[in-house]
Amino acid sequence: MLRVISKQRKTNFLTPSGLRCLANLPTVNISAGCVHNCVYCYTKGYSIYPGDNSIEVYENMAEEIANEIKRKRKKPTAVYFCPSCDPFQLVPEVQQITFEVMKILLENDIGVQFVTKGSMPEEIFDLFEKHSSKIAGQIGLISVDEKILNIFEPNAANVYQRLKQLGKLVKIGVKMSARCDPMIYGLTDTNEQLQNLFSAVAKTGCRKTAVSFLFLRPAITASLKKNIVDKNILNEILKPFSKSVCLPIGIKNSTGAVLPVEIRKTTFGKIRKTANDFGIKTHICGCKNCDITRDSCYITRELNSQECLFPK
Ligand code: SF4
Repeated sequence: MLRVISKQRKTNFLTPSGLRCLANLPTVNISAGCVHNCVYCYTKGYSIYPGDNSIEVYENMAEEIANEIKRKRKKPTAVYFCPSCDPFQLVPEVQQITFEVMKILLENDIGVQFVTKGSMPEEIFDLFEKHSSKIAGQIGLISVDEKILNIFEPNAANVYQRLKQLGKLVKIGVKMSARCDPMIYGLTDTNEQLQNLFSAVAKTGCRKTAVSFLFLRPAITASLKKNIVDKNILNEILKPFSKSVCLPIGIKNSTGAVLPVEIRKTTFGKIRKTANDFGIKTHICGCKNCDITRDSCYITRELNSQECLFPK
């Protein structure tokens, strides 16, 4: 059973992120913890992670952010939601705070950038439509196979809903891409899986995808072992990591175990080709693949151009 713990906070909510790809924008986390409970979630190892069945929200967040903006001499061009949770978790408190904060930002001429696997409420589409030139986003989707999503992202929105949201956002003029991260080697990257995925994404009108593979840290491996009941699937996921390499992952002094370079190079090539067959351009995450690319997953973008904000 989910516990939502409401708190007050007096320190700033708009904070810089240690992640290199988010270095140019302030970021905000609507909650500590995330009800989607993705089994591969990197936040499970964070000291502030409140456990799988709890989230903490700050009920004064909207009010404090409004004050923070008033105090700033120079307003940020945009704010990123959220490095360590999903802004559209299906929890009334989270949805309300997200809407209020995004509205305050947009009405102050500050852009909104986001990633979600959640359920976006109708009122957010109305808000986004009014300010579409100030918004960019990503819908997370590693597969269109519900059985696979149920294993890896048990509480996130279903495939139909995510694709519908992606199509609606593209239609109202929001710069969107499909975030296919983390792909699971041997499971979500078969020819059939990739064709089904990119065919579905192409039908929404979205023409960009961000791709990377699962990486492991001790807390992520422990979560996979605890939550994936089918031991054959678990073994298939972990087997290729017996020859993994350790790479810096996005943030200073932080590392993770990634698949061997040859596997990633070959499979990214296959993914790129399949996506291209459906008119979709692929961007590989350079933060998690610094040994093979300087590309960016376009998690943040310059809003008045096609460029990303990733510091090269
Ligand atoms: S949606 Fe993101 S933050 Fe939430 S559990 Fe999944 S990976 Fe973690």
